[in-house]
Amino acid sequence: MTEGSDVRAVCSATGSPAPDILWNIDSLFTITKVNALELESNLTLLGLSPSDNGRVITCNVENVVGQTEAYLQLNILFRPTILELLEPLRLHHWCIPFSVTGNPKPELRWYHKDQELHEQEYIKTEIHESTGSVHHGCLKLVNPTHIHNGQYTLVVRNEYGEDRKEIDAHFLLPPDTDYDTGLTVYIVVGIAGVALIGCVLMVIILKYGRNSKFGMKGSSSVISNDDDSASPLHHVSNGNNTPSSSEMGHDAVIIGMTKIPVIENPQYFRQSGSMLKSDTFVQHIKRHNIVLKRELGEGAFGKVFLAECYNLTPDQDKILVAVKTLKEASESGRADFHREAELLTNLQHEHIVTFYGVCVESDPLIMVFEYMKHGDLNKFLRSHGPDAVLMADGQHSLMVELTQSQMLHIAQQIAAGMVYLASQHFVHRDLATRNCLVGENLLVKIGDFGMSRDVYSTDYYRVGGHTMLPIRWMPPESIMYRRFTTESDVWSLGVVLWEIFTYGKQPWYQLSNNEVIECITQGRVLQRPRSCPKEVYDLMLGCWQRESYMRLNIKEIHSLLQSLAKASPVYLDILG
Ligand code: AMP
Repeated sequence: MTEGSDVRAVCSATGSPAPDILWNIDSLFTITKVNALELESNLTLLGLSPSDNGRVITCNVENVVGQTEAYLQLNILFRPTILELLEPLRLHHWCIPFSVTGNPKPELRWYHKDQELHEQEYIKTEIHESTGSVHHGCLKLVNPTHIHNGQYTLVVRNEYGEDRKEIDAHFLLPPDTDYDTGLTVYIVVGIAGVALIGCVLMVIILKYGRNSKFGMKGSSSVISNDDDSASPLHHVSNGNNTPSSSEMGHDAVIIGMTKIPVIENPQYFRQSGSMLKSDTFVQHIKRHNIVLKRELGEGAFGKVFLAECYNLTPDQDKILVAVKTLKEASESGRADFHREAELLTNLQHEHIVTFYGVCVESDPLIMVFEYMKHGDLNKFLRSHGPDAVLMADGQHSLMVELTQSQMLHIAQQIAAGMVYLASQHFVHRDLATRNCLVGENLLVKIGDFGMSRDVYSTDYYRVGGHTMLPIRWMPPESIMYRRFTTESDVWSLGVVLWEIFTYGKQPWYQLSNNEVIECITQGRVLQRPRSCPKEVYDLMLGCWQRESYMRLNIKEIHSLLQSLAKASPVYLDILG
């Protein structure tokens, strides 16, 4: 059928007694009785759209004796559209990324400065991934030079129509580019990981601005801007195969083979304005009511302690709590602290850690949370994985491996917390098992909303100043354009599922940060963990669709996990 047309599906069924007929979609249908044992149902779908392409319509018939079904799949023919055409990225080779859709699959043609491009080995179209009728790929260019600079036009065509888009591409700067008005230019060349992986990483960074420094720390391929000044970073230029800042659109750094925009990190509390109600009442707790017992860990703001808190609830004179202390009470640190407190006061859900209040009588500033006995979920998973059980070697009789149903139970609770956050229009940006907490009876809650970490620092990638990115949990659009949405949280939730089913392994543990960036931006996804059922891996794949709008919806994920978890009951007391 072509786009816009109507379709009528007819389902005839017999049975004794005469069966009921049910369609799997919410649409108008009529049922006519042909004779005593035979029925016919007519379903009409009006104005089919490209999004209906591939949709399966099922007719389910049943009576007391049994049931059967028949189905048909819609094949909607529609004109092609270019969903995305982006500025060139430097991956293994240069790539002008595009996403196109159309049915039948459109023919692609490229024009460079209005001249048709004749594809050959060094310049050619590659389709990397196709999901349904959406195709993602690159115009690959091997070692382009300045003659390849200029406007590229992509024309996509099938028998139903065509679409075209243009993009400006600059692969090489003219040799004598005049950089602005004589401001200091810093060029830093970093070579990383030579001994370990024999791979040379060149990072040449150019920064405009007085007194600015831009450096690269040798260990663990961390690139950081030691200067916290707000002057904008401009991206790399080495006069050799690297685009200039004006060409990049965003301020960006080239890391490994990929550009990463360096924009001021819009902290979560700024973008989640709806959470910061002006009338938020943050509870204040007196210092003398808090008695520290022992250290639990170290977090974004500072140390975390187990403590007893007196007079907090009317029914108990003291309860165990976790208190977080603010390490450096700088002006901005204090402001962040108060904003986080307001935000946490407004987030209340059974799968979000309970926030009791703050204590700001003197330094250090303190936040008081409910105590979650088993600590962070990543540690918990590792200590209930095969390695930990092997190491315990019968010494701890309670050291047992998590079962599949317990994993599902954990996953389902995190998804419930995420459904709540999405309903509050709160984009988490850093969902990972290290940021979830485990209490008694395998109760799991999302427990952390910060962005930078000390303890799990290898999980983060530092770009520009103090921006730390959890790239291993991020979808391509967050890595490439810092686009964080509920859909990018869904991607991270998929990675969390992977963490759960690998007993807390680090995603892409075998790859360096640069390699991870390349992998993700090229469309590779994590492999199915050994102990992961197909249904769960399919769910992960649904979270890792390259196009954010194609990803599963958080509510769908939650109900799928809920039904999978229900299908295999959890024996909670095994874990004590
Ligand atoms: P965070 O600042 O949330 O990253 O916390 C650092 C570490 O302190 C975590 O990894 C946990 O091990 C521990 N922790 C944080 N909050 C709690 C809590 N509410 N209950 C128990 N342990 C916690």
